Amino acid sequence: MVDFNNSGFSEEQTSYLSGFVTGILQARDLPFLGQDASNRFTHQPSEAVEMLHGTPLEDLCREEQIKHEKNGLDCYDTILANAATNSFPTDGDVFRYKFHGLFFVTPAQESFMLRCRIAGGALSTYQFRGLAEIASDWGPGHVDLTTRANVQVREIMPENCPDILMKLGDLGLTSQGAGADNIRNITATPTTGFDPTELIDVMPYARAMHHYILKNRDLYGLPRKFNISYDSGGAVSVCADTNDIGFYAVRVGPNEMGIEPGVYFRMQLCGITGHKQFATDCGVLLTPAETIPVAAALIRVFIENGDRTNRKKARLKYLVDDWGIPKTLEETAKKLTFALRSFPLENCEPSAPKSKHGHLGIHQQTDGRHYIGVLTPVGRMSVSQMHALADIADAFGRSEIRLTVWQNLIIPGIAEENLQAAITAIQAIGLDHRNNTLTGGLIACTGSRGCKFAAADTKGNAIALGGHLSRKMILDQPVNIHLTGCQNSCAQHYIGDIGMMGTRVKTEDGGSVDGYNIVLGGGVDDTQAIAREVWKSVRADEMPSLIERILVAYLRERIEDET
Ligand code: SF4
Repeated sequence: MVDFNNSGFSEEQTSYLSGFVTGILQARDLPFLGQDASNRFTHQPSEAVEMLHGTPLEDLCREEQIKHEKNGLDCYDTILANAATNSFPTDGDVFRYKFHGLFFVTPAQESFMLRCRIAGGALSTYQFRGLAEIASDWGPGHVDLTTRANVQVREIMPENCPDILMKLGDLGLTSQGAGADNIRNITATPTTGFDPTELIDVMPYARAMHHYILKNRDLYGLPRKFNISYDSGGAVSVCADTNDIGFYAVRVGPNEMGIEPGVYFRMQLCGITGHKQFATDCGVLLTPAETIPVAAALIRVFIENGDRTNRKKARLKYLVDDWGIPKTLEETAKKLTFALRSFPLENCEPSAPKSKHGHLGIHQQTDGRHYIGVLTPVGRMSVSQMHALADIADAFGRSEIRLTVWQNLIIPGIAEENLQAAITAIQAIGLDHRNNTLTGGLIACTGSRGCKFAAADTKGNAIALGGHLSRKMILDQPVNIHLTGCQNSCAQHYIGDIGMMGTRVKTEDGGSVDGYNIVLGGGVDDTQAIAREVWKSVRADEMPSLIERILVAYLRERIEDET
């Protein structure tokens, strides 16, 4: 360990640097992949066909053919050329742009949507301000927080794409691989590192995973998108069980299986709630540092064996359905230099229960300071609010902002004596830290104002719903309400207490209006459940009063503190 004492640094700087180096050493202490891993998929058409066990090129689905014509990572020249003439991409380049996080969202909007990558949702105030500048200089003056603790900026024109990608780089951020068939933003428990209820700080591992992916070109162009999440074992949920790989921290006590007691990770596989499936435990126990190579090995197995002919069957789930967990692990183990450790889940200590909406409000940290969870309705924030939040985090916090998968954010590191000043400043910009049971878990995807797949204006309808419920009733239990615009389920409607999927509802005059199919009873983590459909084709303008009646009926009929 490097000794920073007597080095001329202040005590605070020495403490910070020691922690920083420890973090690096933790991240470097990773078992490496075996020789077999060098035999990688390289996106060359001939190899691709070979990897598909003889599937002819013409049988590849359209997106695969685009990828094999030219790797999406290699379309930067096209981005520059189109910028020069302020032109939008055509044909296969529309898909390739998504490798750089640029989504041409016509016909919903004649512009790009930029999606970033923010490991673990952790941003310095410098980065947060930089994102606000992107939104003000080249976007619509606001950003959207996503359900992967990420930031999206809309209304971007082709001529500004190179400047935006360069600015992201200058900020220490990127959008590489944020869309198309790539590994999406790595999520982590948003309170990790300062959460008294957690078992381990997962941020070093989420960051190590993020950088591992960025540095390995073969980990792009998967058969389909891929999600990874780290749950620190604390009370705040990151919905890790909705990911293709969800790593859950657990404690293992004294046992008869020769496993040293300590904190490990369980690996859950194949969460894909749009297909009504949560990730399930695969029977393996991993040390924290093993999670990166094991995920990489599994992804490479998926790259080599996933279905590239049918987009609907291309997610990891379908390979695992076909093979079963034992064969999937067997193939993964062939790419590792260490053995996978079998250990029954029931021999691990039970995890702490999750606290619904636990990311909102004021909570004490491990160091005695506090974090404030701020409610940002349906994740939309103006540039001026962003600058003000950065100022608050600088003045009272530790110059950091954490994004959550609930489309909200957290300001950590606030001393007790500064809490009131911070709260006053938050309220002064029209935001609130109070845990509103009705709107604290109100989530909406982009919807028809910005997504061509949407059947309804989810964000607009969600705001109207939140306003209606807040005016009409008081609820003593937190409730999660998820509005998603189509079956792609970006807002994960099947895990909401109340979930809604957009649909067009026919009107008497032969037209159609926004509407929703409504599902009830979903949950995540320790309340895991796929919601079931109860109403079909409810008009958007009738939906708020229906939801109100559902909640009133719940309050009237519930038994004791039934959720
Ligand atoms: Fe678009 Fe559908 Fe995703 Fe909503 S769920 S953002 S409508 S693709």
